[in-house]
Amino acid sequence: MKKECPSCAMMIENDAQVCPICKYEFPRRGYQNKLKWIAVLLALLFLLVILL
Ligand SMILES: [Zn+2]
Repeated sequence: MKKECPSCAMMIENDAQVCPICKYEFPRRGYQNKLKWIAVLLALLFLLVILL
C-alpha cells in the first residue's frame, strides 16, 4: 500500500509517518477520533452524575 504525499505529491509507503522526500509529517491517524470518544464518554458520565 502506498499513499500520496500532500506536500510533494510523491507516492510513499502507507505506514510512513514522515515523507522521506520532503520531510512532510503526517498527522497521526485516529487521534481526533479518540478525543471525540473521550468527550462523548465525559458527557455521558456528567449526565449520569446529574441524573443520580
Ligand atoms: Zn513529500
